[in-house]
Amino acid sequence: MLVMKFGGTSVGSAERMQDVLSIVNNAKSQSKSAPLVVLSAMSGVTNALIRAGEKAVSKDLKGALNEVVDLRKKHADAIEAGLGKDLTKAKQIADSLEPHFEELEIILKGVSYLGELSKRSVDAVSGMGELLSSKIVAGIFDVQGIPSVWLDAREVMLTDSTFGRANPISEEIKKRAKTKITKPSKEGKVVITQGFIGSNSDGVTTTLGRGGSDYSAAIFGAAVDADEIQIWTDVDGMMTSDPRLVPEAEVIAEVGFQEAAELAYFGAKVLHPLTIKPAIEQGIAVRILNTMRPNNPGTIIKADREVQSSDGDKRPICAIAAKKGITALFISSFKMLMAHGFLLKVFEIFDRYSTSIDLIATSEVSVSLTVDRTEELDSIIRDLKDLGEVKILTDVSIVSVVGRQFRDKSGIAGEVFSALNNVNIIMISGGASDINLSFVVSNEDADKSIKQLHKHFFPVTAKV
Ligand code: ADP
Ligand code: ASP
Ligand code: MG
Repeated sequence: MLVMKFGGTSVGSAERMQDVLSIVNNAKSQSKSAPLVVLSAMSGVTNALIRAGEKAVSKDLKGALNEVVDLRKKHADAIEAGLGKDLTKAKQIADSLEPHFEELEIILKGVSYLGELSKRSVDAVSGMGELLSSKIVAGIFDVQGIPSVWLDAREVMLTDSTFGRANPISEEIKKRAKTKITKPSKEGKVVITQGFIGSNSDGVTTTLGRGGSDYSAAIFGAAVDADEIQIWTDVDGMMTSDPRLVPEAEVIAEVGFQEAAELAYFGAKVLHPLTIKPAIEQGIAVRILNTMRPNNPGTIIKADREVQSSDGDKRPICAIAAKKGITALFISSFKMLMAHGFLLKVFEIFDRYSTSIDLIATSEVSVSLTVDRTEELDSIIRDLKDLGEVKILTDVSIVSVVGRQFRDKSGIAGEVFSALNNVNIIMISGGASDINLSFVVSNEDADKSIKQLHKHFFPVTAKV
C-alpha cells in the first residue's frame, strides 16, 4: 500500500485539492490496494488557530472569534469552489464542518474566561485544521465517484499525553490500522485521514508537534507496512538548500536515511525530522514530490548503504541547512581542570529537565552547547550555575553542512570555513558525525553563510 501525505499548500485551495484527487486516483489505478491519504490543514490554518488561542488567553476574545470568522470563510470558499456544482454535497460537507467551528468557539470562550491556555487546550484548538481540510477533500472524492472513506485519525493514532509533541504508541496503532486502514484499502477504497493529530487513551486530542503530518504519514506507513511513503509538498524534493533562500538550489535525486535525518533535524523544513525513524526501522523508502509538478521524479530517501553504492563518492556535500532561533550556553569552570565527572554533571542537569542538547564543544575548562527547546531554560541555568559561570546567547543559528564520509576526506572543514566571508563563528562542532559539520552563528549571519557555502559547493554552471 502507498501512503501519500499532502502538506498545507497542497490542500491550500479547491484547485489544489483537485490536484490531490488526480494524483491519488492515478496511484490507485496502478495498484491493487488503494492508497492511504494523510492530509494537513489548509495552508495558514494551523497558524490562525494557534493565534486564536493566544488572542483568547490575552483577553482579546473578539480578535479570537474573528479568526474563526475568517476560517469559516476560507473553508466555505473551498467548499463552494470544489463542490459548488453539487449543492447537496456542498451543504452536507459544510454542515459536517460546523460542529468543529462551534467547538472551537466554545473552547476559545473558555480559554478567555479562565485566562488559561494549557498545552492540552492548544492541541484541541490547533488540531482542528486537519479535520476541516480532510472533510472537504473527502467530499470532492465522493462527488467525483472515487470510492473512499474518511477516517478520524484519532481512532488509530494512539499517543501518550505529552500534549504539543505527543509520542505515538506504535503497537496499538498497528493493531487498529488493520481494520481501519488495511481492510478498506484492500477493498479498493481510498482512506482519507489527517496528519498531525492523535488522541491519548482517554480519547483526548493530542498533536505530534508543528510540521507533524509528515511524522503521521511515517507512523501510519510503518503500521500498514507501506511499500513507500510519499510526502507531497510545494517544492520538487529535498534540495541542496532552502529554495526560498537560495533560488539556484538543486533537487537531490537520492539521499540516505542518515543524511536526510540530519538535514531535517538541522533545518530542512521539507521533512519533519522524526519521519525518518519509523521508515528506517522498517526499511520503507520515503519519496518527496511536488503536488504542482507530479511528473517530476522528486527525491527518494533510502537506506544509506544503497545510496552509497549507487553514486559512491561523487558528491561529498549533499546540502546545507540552518536551524534558527537556537540558544547557546557557555559554561566555564576551573573545577573542570584535570577533573573527571564534570560533563556527567552537566548532562544530568539537562536530563533532569528533559531537554536535549543539539551541539556540544568542550575544552579543558569550558563547555559550549546549544539547545532548541527553552521551556525549562531558567531551571537549567539555575542548576548549571552551581557548576560554574554560565553565559547565554539567545537567538543564534546552527548552520549544518551535510555530506558523506567527511572523516575520510581531507580538507572539508578547511573548505567550509574558507568559503565564509565576514561571518563571525560562535562555536564549531564537527567530527562527531561522519556526515555533518555544524557551526553556530548569529541569526543575521545564518542566511549569509548558507548563500556563501552554496555558491562555493554548488557553483552555477552556465547552461548553453
Ligand atoms: P508542507 O506544508 O507541504 O509540509 P513545508 O512548508 O512544511 O511544506 O515544507 C516545504 C518547504 O520547506 C519548502 O517550501 C521550502 O521552502 C522549505 N525547505 C527548507 N529547506 C529545504 C530543502 N533543503 N529542500 C527543500 N525544501 C526546503
Ligand atoms: N498543520 C500542522 C502544522 O502546520 C501539521 C503539518 O502541516 O505538518 O504544523
Ligand atoms: Mg511540513
